[in-house]
Amino acid sequence: MANVIDLSVYSGILLKKIHVVDVSEKYGPGHRGLFAAEEISAGEIILKNDPTTTAFYPFGDERGIYTLEEFYRLISEQCDPDVKKYLMRYSLQYDDKHVMVPKNYLTRDIIDLCVFMNHSCEANCSQLDVKQVSALQDIEPGSMLTVDYGLYNTDDMQLLPFNVCRCGVTACAGNDVFKRYKHHDWQQKYYDYCSPYVQAKIDEIRKQREKA
Ligand SMILES: [Zn+2]
Repeated sequence: MANVIDLSVYSGILLKKIHVVDVSEKYGPGHRGLFAAEEISAGEIILKNDPTTTAFYPFGDERGIYTLEEFYRLISEQCDPDVKKYLMRYSLQYDDKHVMVPKNYLTRDIIDLCVFMNHSCEANCSQLDVKQVSALQDIEPGSMLTVDYGLYNTDDMQLLPFNVCRCGVTACAGNDVFKRYKHHDWQQKYYDYCSPYVQAKIDEIRKQREKA
């Protein structure tokens, strides 16, 4: 089966065959998800950021970085409800004070495939910033690709993607998804995949634990 993703609408370099699927029924109006269209083995890279078409400035580029205050001001200054919606849905909070805003919010001409990774409390993928999605386990065709949003977001952030998780797995953390970084077992399993911000939070907890 060939990739059927229209790369004039979506940005990304596909290393494995995947589909974009409408998942409004489970996640709410307008939500999409990525699904495996072939077998994927643990450790394989599935999707990479395409620097030539991405809607984001490179990670750390100041042009795309807004303080929370600037971000809320940007949204309040927009008159078009579609622009507001786009900014809310596709901007990424990457520490407790800063938000990464997609540079094409006025044209909204292309969307990075990476932003369609939905959350699961038993995620089958990891995601490095918005740059790269890799398989954490073997993935069967037809499975949705998921990532643990706790790898990037913590309970001290304002723009959390949801309050209560409804991913449906047995081990679902419910309303504790963004607090799990505080737990030893979760840290052991996911530290290496966490964003620098979450890693720094975990380092701090570990330091406190050593002192105690
Ligand atoms: Zn869950």
